[in-house]
Amino acid sequence: MKHQSKFGEVPKLTLRQKILLKINGEVFIGYKQGIGDHGKVPVFVVHCSEHGNYLDTPHGWCNYFSCDECFDERIQKCHVPATAST
Ligand SMILES: [Zn+2]
Repeated sequence: MKHQSKFGEVPKLTLRQKILLKINGEVFIGYKQGIGDHGKVPVFVVHCSEHGNYLDTPHGWCNYFSCDECFDERIQKCHVPATAST
């Protein structure tokens, strides 16, 4: 079941973005207006092994990403970007 992401549809990726997504599991695509009064937030395309690519902004102290559909299914897997470990 597919539902609307909080940041809309995943845009068509360039070859470079596809490669970065493959290597890192996420790729930065730009700033978008977030929910509430947070102003513009950095938005990434993140790959979920269950649901494919989705849009998200980093959450929490370790800047993790979470797939809405995994969350809905209470799997609550997180993708922690490689860059957060430094
Ligand atoms: Zn998922």
